[in-house]
Amino acid sequence: MTFRLNEDAEDSATVSVDSIVDTEYVKQMEEFVATNGELSSQSSSTLQVDGLTAIAFQEEQRVALDALTPLADCEVCSEAISFHQRVRLPCGHIFCVDCTLEYFRRATKDEVLYPPMCCTRQISLLLIRKDMPDDLSRAYEKAKLEFATLDRTYCANPACGQFVPPTFIVDQQATCSHCDTVTHATARDKAMEATQALADLNGWKTCYQCNRIVELNFGCYHMTCPCKAEFCYLCGAKWKTCDCSRWNEDRLLGPR
Ligand SMILES: [Zn+2]
Ligand SMILES: [Zn+2]
Ligand SMILES: [Zn+2]
Ligand SMILES: [Zn+2]
Ligand SMILES: [Zn+2]
Repeated sequence: MTFRLNEDAEDSATVSVDSIVDTEYVKQMEEFVATNGELSSQSSSTLQVDGLTAIAFQEEQRVALDALTPLADCEVCSEAISFHQRVRLPCGHIFCVDCTLEYFRRATKDEVLYPPMCCTRQISLLLIRKDMPDDLSRAYEKAKLEFATLDRTYCANPACGQFVPPTFIVDQQATCSHCDTVTHATARDKAMEATQALADLNGWKTCYQCNRIVELNFGCYHMTCPCKAEFCYLCGAKWKTCDCSRWNEDRLLGPR
């Protein structure tokens, strides 16, 4: 599948070398990205056809396009942005590069914002990768792995607390690549038990999917965890699989 996409990308990149300002090509590439979503890092490098020629060509094309294209407003910060500073999203909205990078940065820290979306459509990493600093790329890849892992292990060193990917867990022992602390499965479970006791005391619930503690402020008992799991706040069961009442009238009215 990815291999096939590679070929397409290469084809359209080669065709474009015929003309200096080829807006049709740019449009096609954007549409290609919008419809095909993320590609692996290897595949994006195939877009830089043959080294220096392609890069010089891209620079020329960039300057020409900026001069020819009217400015557009960023959906987030309302700044007027030139063509090359523009990130055109699959929903049709336009973000500036800075706002897009900021969104991705936040998404690495807050699972609720992951993956970055606009109008319910995911914003492909490919749309912004060329402008993304290496540290953010790495942080994003790391967050992607963490958020995709359901049964997560975090480093037991309180000063660290980093996520330990499943590949670093051997025989129930998780080795942290940041501080070399080895977290044993039993220690992890003990830590989880302590958190659970605190949660029970406060009436918090644990997400059945990712073990995160979620607190209900007011409203209905339908909880959506940052990991996207939906469950019943009363019994913790997957949403709509239990007989509990779905509303808490007191909480619905909010604090009085
Ligand atoms: Zn902006
Ligand atoms: Zn949108
Ligand atoms: Zn650690
Ligand atoms: Zn969850
Ligand atoms: Zn229930």
